[in-house]
Amino acid sequence: MNRRILLVEDEPGLTLILSDVLRSEGYVVENAQDGERGLQLATGEYFDLLVLDVGLPKKNGFDVLRDLRQRGVTTPAIMLTARGQVVDKILGLKLGADDYLTKPFDTGELLARIEAILRRTPAVTTPTAEVYVFGDVRVDSRRATVTRAGEAVELTAREYQLLRFLIENRESVLSRDELLDKVWGYDAMPTTRTVDVHIGLLRQKLEPNPRLPQYILTVHGLGYKFLG
Ligand code: CA
Repeated sequence: MNRRILLVEDEPGLTLILSDVLRSEGYVVENAQDGERGLQLATGEYFDLLVLDVGLPKKNGFDVLRDLRQRGVTTPAIMLTARGQVVDKILGLKLGADDYLTKPFDTGELLARIEAILRRTPAVTTPTAEVYVFGDVRVDSRRATVTRAGEAVELTAREYQLLRFLIENRESVLSRDELLDKVWGYDAMPTTRTVDVHIGLLRQKLEPNPRLPQYILTVHGLGYKFLG
């Protein structure tokens, strides 16, 4: 499955060049031209990686990153900084930036950094069918969209990741600890209660009767099992 990259960059020329290069490498690329739009997209859809300019209209790259982390979105991020721009890299690293590139940079260098980060990112997105259907729910992995009876279902990035992991491991019993590890990642600090809350939210959005789930089942004492 193609990895999804969100490019948040306000310079049209650079956006065009980088989007072309990334697409030619097989990535699915979405663009945002300002920080607010970037935050909105990164929260609402699943991405494997963010390429985030620091100097952005409406909300700068660091503020976008901080807001994302506060909302529990742990998508890896490469920050783009302008030459001569004084950047507090320590602040950036604390906020969870994975790498920096100073403009102007070679696109080959950006590709190498992206590959390095994606290699060490837990593969939540192992290849499966591009469109997965259960009941009246349709999960389109290429576009990272979910519909139910033809209507768009709004999932947060985390809910989407959780759903994908359940689908990829259908019929397996998954413990809360395993879900935390695989979906939230080792550097996040949520509790197993977080898993229950997100399972509950997915059931609300996807189950015909959330109180009597038929797809996302509780296995008492063990965890959850997806039977879609
Ligand atoms: Ca800029």
